Amino acid sequence: MKLSFNGATTMRADLPTDIRAAAAAGFDCVEIWAAKLRRFLAENSTDDLNALFAENSIKPLSINSIEHITFRAERDYDRIKAECEQLSEIAATIDCPYVVVVPGKLPPREITRDKIVNESARVLNELAQIAAEHKVALAFEFLGQRDCSVQTLDLAGEIVRQVNRKNVGLVIDAFHFYAGGSTIEMIDALDAQRLFIFHIDDAEDLPREKLTDAHRLLPGLGILPLKEIIAAFRRIGYDDNASLELFRPEYWERDPFALAREAKAAVEKVLSE
Ligand code: ZN
Repeated sequence: MKLSFNGATTMRADLPTDIRAAAAAGFDCVEIWAAKLRRFLAENSTDDLNALFAENSIKPLSINSIEHITFRAERDYDRIKAECEQLSEIAATIDCPYVVVVPGKLPPREITRDKIVNESARVLNELAQIAAEHKVALAFEFLGQRDCSVQTLDLAGEIVRQVNRKNVGLVIDAFHFYAGGSTIEMIDALDAQRLFIFHIDDAEDLPREKLTDAHRLLPGLGILPLKEIIAAFRRIGYDDNASLELFRPEYWERDPFALAREAKAAVEKVLSE
């Protein structure tokens, strides 16, 4: 698999630092944290960004992310579409294949599974049309949290099958896979072509409902079923992208170069077991 480093892991570092740290550690790609991208482009150009990637011999994998794309009021949804246009245009300019998109929260009233599938497919289709004009693909990432409208792999998989476009696929994040109660059988039922990115991470030993992003750990240090997940990826023939993505404030205090080095070793160890 190609190994990537997600900018959330070093939330306080800027984008040039993420690129340099990931390259120095030997990662193949960087997942660009969108807020860092905006700060960078406020004072620099996409040419500067291309130069930075070239100088460091590393590539962008994705821009993370457009949040809460579904179940939005009309004016907010217009902003989501504008954001999709803007990020897809930037992605195309820097030769970045994916923009990660995240489902919205569950609406306050009870809702059927069919309605969630239809709303998610409608929005993904509209956004994918925008992204396709820039030859960019959307990677849809379900979240395990109880208030998210798409919490499991089987539901996310059903949505991308309904969308049925080449430029729409999935992110499986090990943390959200576990927190939302997805199962290994759901990976076995997946067409590997519909999986774009594996967010690799681990988590502290806490009840599912108590887990938050801040409890993420380097792979191998926690209780997530990474071996089983990776074995299932091998069975379905998935071998594309594994990207280290943590949101642990304790790690944000650390030197990004040292953290990236340690992360690379941890990811390689887990993937080779
Ligand atoms: Zn993720």
